[in-house]
Amino acid sequence: MAASPDRFEHSVSTAIVALLNELATYNTVVANKLSLTVTQFSKARSVQEYQQIGIGVRDSWIEFAQSIFRPEFCPAGQQAPGPADAKKMVEYTLRSLDHKSGYLVLSSNRVYALANELQHDLGATRESALWCLCSTVLNMLLILDLVVRSRVKVKRPYYKCPNCGGISLETKEHWEVEYDGAWKCDKLICTDCGWYYIEDLGVTGIE
Ligand SMILES: [Zn+2]
Repeated sequence: MAASPDRFEHSVSTAIVALLNELATYNTVVANKLSLTVTQFSKARSVQEYQQIGIGVRDSWIEFAQSIFRPEFCPAGQQAPGPADAKKMVEYTLRSLDHKSGYLVLSSNRVYALANELQHDLGATRESALWCLCSTVLNMLLILDLVVRSRVKVKRPYYKCPNCGGISLETKEHWEVEYDGAWKCDKLICTDCGWYYIEDLGVTGIE
């Protein structure tokens, strides 16, 4: 049977949806954003609509990068990346988890650049929008695989400060004092505004 563009696109879309289900087990917010973009793509027929795919993908990368990056991944002497600097956040995370992750750093940076280009491209095409979507989902899963294998806690209760929206959350030791002694647990603190969450107690507050 001869391959047709419609059949090709149908098979690829089916594969993306399956991969997004996998992604949703790690990060529902990012998976939902990308699912919306896939729906937009299926209806898109104009340059402006293909540019929108670039915007959706770029936004998903920022959300994704924030969810995996930790301030302690920032190399000594380097300024901490800004909250929208997905490229740096992904790069610093990958380099601190695995020193051989250079290819993944390159390919994810290129995909992010493609999303950026797409949103301004006056000649944006269906093909480039599809490349951008497919490569994004694949790269994110490969990165997550590395993150999980590096035994980094990806399912922290918070990856953004719910008080100020910042991403400078740090885990610190916390001693809870009781009448018969004290016990140690983890305390998540936002270094920007002082918001905190004591994991074992489920208590939040501001210092
Ligand atoms: Zn905060």
